Amino acid sequence: MVSFVTGAYILAALLFILALAGLSKHETARRGNAFGMAGMALAVVATLLLVLDYLTDDLIVDKTPIVIGLVIILVAGTVGAVIGIRLARGVEMTGMPELIAMMHSFVGLAAVLVGYNTFIEVASAHSTVGGAVGAESGAVHNAEVFIGVFIGAVTFTGSIVANLKLSARMRSAPIALPGRHLLNLGILVVSAVLMVWFMLTDGWVGMAPLAVMTVLALVLGFHLVAAIGGGDMPVVVSMLNSYSGWAAAAAGFMLGNDLLIITGALVGSSGAILSYIMCKAMNRSFVSVIAGGFGSDGAVSGEARDYGEHREIQADDVADLLAHASSVVITPGYGMAVAQAQYPVAEMTKKLREKGVDVRFGIHPVAGRLPGHMNVLLAEARVPYDIVLEMDEVNDDFPDTDVVLVIGANDTVNPAALEEPGSPIAGMPVLEVWNARDVIVFKRSMATGYAGVQNPLFFKDNAQMLFGDAKDKVNEIVAALG
Ligand code: NDP
Repeated sequence: MVSFVTGAYILAALLFILALAGLSKHETARRGNAFGMAGMALAVVATLLLVLDYLTDDLIVDKTPIVIGLVIILVAGTVGAVIGIRLARGVEMTGMPELIAMMHSFVGLAAVLVGYNTFIEVASAHSTVGGAVGAESGAVHNAEVFIGVFIGAVTFTGSIVANLKLSARMRSAPIALPGRHLLNLGILVVSAVLMVWFMLTDGWVGMAPLAVMTVLALVLGFHLVAAIGGGDMPVVVSMLNSYSGWAAAAAGFMLGNDLLIITGALVGSSGAILSYIMCKAMNRSFVSVIAGGFGSDGAVSGEARDYGEHREIQADDVADLLAHASSVVITPGYGMAVAQAQYPVAEMTKKLREKGVDVRFGIHPVAGRLPGHMNVLLAEARVPYDIVLEMDEVNDDFPDTDVVLVIGANDTVNPAALEEPGSPIAGMPVLEVWNARDVIVFKRSMATGYAGVQNPLFFKDNAQMLFGDAKDKVNEIVAALG
């Protein structure tokens, strides 16, 4: 049975690798998801078989704890599955990021609980047997527990703050405490000292350094993410994704479960790679992300300036402008997801292309609230992949573009990122839509975007606002196009 389970674990690990490979391209993403689901199903079944195997092991005399454990696994698994299915079915696409952040917090909490459980198990064995654990293996084991609990605790509170910020239950502006980098460094140094103490102890004495470190790590997780401003949240979410992977890998070490180590390492490293890509896209340094509170020195200003008057336009006039254009670029953002405007946008694109207009899409790497958010929506509405371009592929073409339709995007087309050094989004590359001949901005009001920064684009001479729900307005344009 054990060799069967080992084989199943290897197969599951391969399926997880295939899942990651599949998820790297639109065309293969569905297949990638299917591989991931198959791998996880196999892993769950193999683990249950492993528990059943203990039940038939003649060397284990008292099987009651195994039976109780199995019942707990089945009950908890069923309850978890029911909650998971309900949440996943009910969640709006726009609510996905905060759901994912919440899931990361569960992984972190699980690592903390596994760590404490492992510690308590060894400590009680030590107190009853009287020094059952050898000094060397004890130190290595203690280090695993300590690091696992540390990463888990940072991930737990960090992900809760990310969830609160993404769901707008906590203000997205950075909370910048004076001397915050010193505070973070201090926590790291104290934790390192506590780790040495913990590694050298046996039995219940270790509870003191472990408990103190847990409190410090919980504070660190909270503080690291609270210090990050709204516009920089995408990198934080992928970073926490990575942390949750390492927390799972740490739990795998503590439980001696190879598959959990492999899976955790896959999630941890792919999350780290994604964070690196996002950092490059946001023009932020990877090291400063890990340090927390990057992208600003705490002296950011998102103050309301007087940029002048904005102009408005109606849907019929936009249709007229489009019908007479030869090149159009659409830059969608979070508002397109909120309005679910991707279907009428796809229809408008089709109509314009039939009229001979060259229509393309420009996608900012952090548009929406998830990496690849806009690509998913456009693929869902069957917009051809070859006209959906990355920011870098389209940015130089704006001076030769007749009309840009900014559909529910704000921060990702904000010139303040390039022109105002004190802005919370300063330095972030943006879609330079204002270089086109005409820019039409679809939104419901003059409200700011996610980062809470006013957008000077709306007041430029070549920009006009089309106020209203993006889906309604695009539908009106589709009707007017005939
Ligand atoms: P923003 O969030 O900056 O702006 C969206 C705009 O859409 C708002 O100004 C809003 O204006 C408008 N809007 C909302 N609902 C509608 C509607 N029904 N119809 C028309 N307009 C609507 O969007 P961007 O995509 O440009 O930027 C994404 C932001 O989110 C960035 O700051 C990014 O850093 C952050 N972020 C991204 C993540 C990612 O992984 N992609 C993760 C976390 C954060 P109004 O209310 O006036 O209608």
